[in-house]
Amino acid sequence: MNTIVFISQLDDKTQSKWLSCLREHLSDETILLPEQISEGEIENVDIAIVANPDPTVIAKFSNVIWIQSLWAGVEHLINATLTKQVKIVRLVDPQLAKTMAEAVVAWTLYLHRNMPEYAQQQKNKQWKELPYISAKELRIGVLGAGNLGLTSLKSLQQFEYQLSCWSRTPKQLDGVKSYTGLNGLQSIVSNSDILISLLPLTSQTYHLLDISLLSLLPIGARVINFSRGAVIDTKAIVQLLDTRHISHAVLDVFEHEPLAKGDPIWSNPNITVLPHISAPSDMNTSIKVASINIKKYRKSKIIPNAVNARLGY
Ligand code: NAP
Repeated sequence: MNTIVFISQLDDKTQSKWLSCLREHLSDETILLPEQISEGEIENVDIAIVANPDPTVIAKFSNVIWIQSLWAGVEHLINATLTKQVKIVRLVDPQLAKTMAEAVVAWTLYLHRNMPEYAQQQKNKQWKELPYISAKELRIGVLGAGNLGLTSLKSLQQFEYQLSCWSRTPKQLDGVKSYTGLNGLQSIVSNSDILISLLPLTSQTYHLLDISLLSLLPIGARVINFSRGAVIDTKAIVQLLDTRHISHAVLDVFEHEPLAKGDPIWSNPNITVLPHISAPSDMNTSIKVASINIKKYRKSKIIPNAVNARLGY
């Protein structure tokens, strides 16, 4: 009898909620937590369902054929399973994409309509109108045009911004300029008043936005990072914020999370700090996606679309 292990680092109460929901959706399966599986039963575990797991726990289950993540980012899993043949299936959930698109729209408007500056003015009791720039005049570049990037771009279209995207392969989306390759990256960065990262963290995207690339941004540009902290070289962005080359950054993700209490980023007036909240996985919809994948696999033995180990996403 095959067993599924559910591995997470969620607190006990939240974990048991997710486990109950999994058992409800996959009532024909035996789904257990790692501590509920004896040494003798480990070999029966063929699938792992994970939510931000400790990779060393996954390593104990040596017969696992594939891992279903309930989170979209899987860089920790890739590093942990690099030497094994285990397939990793990321969460591809339309609800997650909608949630991210909401965040992209919210914080794009926040920057477009000068909310950080007006909040500062209020602190100083300063009554001053800042110049209004219409959406049509504002260039927005989205790095990463996958599940989350494309849905975010579609949501931004309603405002008539000048939209561009950058991805490994070209995209065709009405009214959105598509860039690829290093030249494309330099072009999109040079022509973005607001630059948004929705790139996965891979060996190719680690510190991709370094000082030389960020210096190509137009003076006064703004940056939003909703993907992974290490896509941006933090020192570089702080340096460019200090010189006011970049006027503001909205950072939801950091190289080390949670951000340390003593980190000067907390009090940098030109950075809006968010605690990794732009797109949390929805328990019901993500488990629905996972259970459809698992039911299909049980019938056909076909593993759903998995992460490409060479590309890292
Ligand atoms: P996805 O569907 O895999 O899309 C990734 C996009 O990045 C694709 O367009 C891909 O190009 C592009 N890309 C990857 N490597 C590239 C490279 N080296 N050069 C150029 N383009 C590259 O991923 P997703 O579901 O949209 O998720 C994106 C990331 O968002 C996740 O990896 C995760 O880190 C992050 N995330 C954050 C939160 C949060 O709350 N902050 C929540 C969920 C996800 P192609 O289209 O050509 O393949």
